[in-house]
Amino acid sequence: MTSSNLSPVGEQVGQFYDQLMGAFDASLYGPNIHVGFWNSQEDTTGLEDAADRLTDMMIDRLQVGPGDRVLDIGCGLGGPAIRLAQRTGAEVVGISVSLKQVERANELAEAAGVSGKVSFQHGDAMNLPFDDASFSAVWMLESVMQMPDRTAALTEAARVLRPGGRLALTDNYERETISEERRPVIEGILKRYLTQSPASFEAYPTMLREAGLRCAEIIDVSENTTRQSVKRLGEALAKNMEQLAAKVDPEVFAKLKPAEGENLEMPEVGYLIVTARRPAA
Ligand code: SAH
Repeated sequence: MTSSNLSPVGEQVGQFYDQLMGAFDASLYGPNIHVGFWNSQEDTTGLEDAADRLTDMMIDRLQVGPGDRVLDIGCGLGGPAIRLAQRTGAEVVGISVSLKQVERANELAEAAGVSGKVSFQHGDAMNLPFDDASFSAVWMLESVMQMPDRTAALTEAARVLRPGGRLALTDNYERETISEERRPVIEGILKRYLTQSPASFEAYPTMLREAGLRCAEIIDVSENTTRQSVKRLGEALAKNMEQLAAKVDPEVFAKLKPAEGENLEMPEVGYLIVTARRPAA
């Protein structure tokens, strides 16, 4: 099923996740589709707990409580939104371009007993189906890098955020200069997962300002997240490859599977946590 109010990129990303639903349902990260946070190389925390740890760090940044209403842009399977509601008492609305994710996320909210407080719907970040200033806070957890235009997506997020409200997100950025030789390799890997080119750390505050926001904090957590997860996820995948392959269309799986001997580590691509605020009117 398609929906006319999705952008072409949103439509494509939605189909991508719909096709991969089986794999994420058997997911090694639990109901999360984002990297974990590890305190050190020696930290033996499992993938799901490490993913929850990153969610908790993002929850702290929103500073919300009972009576607040939060928008989760790019909600995935809903795990982070459910956790946010349970930990803070805030109401949460999640949106995704994947119909199957929305369906699954609503089931998970029901199962967790929070469907009165947490709901998920189909929609596109580039054209949010919500009124101006209708949310106390907004987050975009590992989703903005799949959107066709970061500044436009942030402008939409700022529009629905009430003055004084906070926005928290995670994103990829160019941590080391990407050489001419490496660029096609990196772009190839990112494209396979429908991910746009990494952002610029230096340009982030300006981009936020252009969107009507003010930067509160930008931190590079690459050492604790992406620099650890490729190896850890690779090990877990190797153990579960057959189980995952059985749950996805073989053609889709073949397209996603790293080529024999391909190294998915991209030291040039770092991971950021960004917090911003919409100025009080
Ligand atoms: N935030 C979730 C999921 C991250 S995966 C988590 O941390 O677990 C990226 C999510 O962004 C997916 O749910 C995908 O459907 C969503 N997404 C990507 N582009 C989008 C767009 N244009 N509009 C709405 N959602 C989008």
